[in-house]
Amino acid sequence: MSLLIIGTVAFDTVETPYGKVERVLGGSGSYASLAAAYYTKPRLVGVVGEDFPQRYLSLLESRGVDTLGVERAPGKSFFWHGRYETDVNIRETLVTELNVLETFDPKLPGDYADSRFVFLANIDPALQLRVLEQTPGAVLTMADTMNLWIDIARDALEEVLRRAHIILLNDSEARQLCGTPNLITAARRILEKGPRAVIIKKGEHGVMMFTDKAVFSLPAYPLEGVKDPTGAGDAFAGGFIGYLAGADDCTEPAMRRAVVAGTATASLCCEDFSVGRLQSADAGAVAARIAGIADITSVDFAQLARV
Ligand code: AMP
Repeated sequence: MSLLIIGTVAFDTVETPYGKVERVLGGSGSYASLAAAYYTKPRLVGVVGEDFPQRYLSLLESRGVDTLGVERAPGKSFFWHGRYETDVNIRETLVTELNVLETFDPKLPGDYADSRFVFLANIDPALQLRVLEQTPGAVLTMADTMNLWIDIARDALEEVLRRAHIILLNDSEARQLCGTPNLITAARRILEKGPRAVIIKKGEHGVMMFTDKAVFSLPAYPLEGVKDPTGAGDAFAGGFIGYLAGADDCTEPAMRRAVVAGTATASLCCEDFSVGRLQSADAGAVAARIAGIADITSVDFAQLARV
């Protein structure tokens, strides 16, 4: 089923303890759409500048991403520079240049308006709202956000929280947004604003998904070879909603399976810089990672109950 993703399509410069890459393909939309493409053909909406190489867009296309909705505008592309500490859970943003994003007003290509699944990846919440207005037929909408927008675009973000069906954010953002150190309390407060589900990403500790009836928790796949965690959250989101769109299923059991799908694509993303691993991993690599997740989470609860 049709999945639309809006997010950044960017130049990233990234430094981790394992190396440095400069002006490589990045952006929340790039990571999310590459991950979603394992399950469906996502329609990517975003903007790049005159400086953006065609080969990056061709790379997305070659992996099954529809880039018709990626506009090329006069000016420079969005640029982000981040540096990770020895503990790669700690990251400092050194530069964020919005550039063409400052004047971007997303207008969906005609046939994108019928998209049934919509992922509003991390981007200015005002732009996320513009996409929601243009996709009235969506059966499932999911929105991601980050600390920058909590700081500078709170009103638009609150509107996104009221209107999207699923809200995705990381643990520190949930604490900041809700003014509480407790993630369960934070999730409950976000649910009270309107969404059906809240997913809190906890980096190498995995994710928790909250609905008004249930809590589901999954650890991250244990990786020894983390090279660059940039985009892991976006790759989780893309795998998650890509699975739901591919299965055309928004039920709670499907969302639990989607958490596994997203955990698999997020772990692959961390194994190389930029989109390197999402570019090289085939469907078999994703299936093998899902089998690995099944293995590390498998417990015979029935046998336990008999003790
Ligand atoms: P993540 O590691 O999941 O936070 O995603 C990192 C990606 O988000 C990078 O590829 C950046 O280009 C992109 N990014 C960083 N800051 C922003 C921002 N303010 N808005 C949208 N995308 C961003």
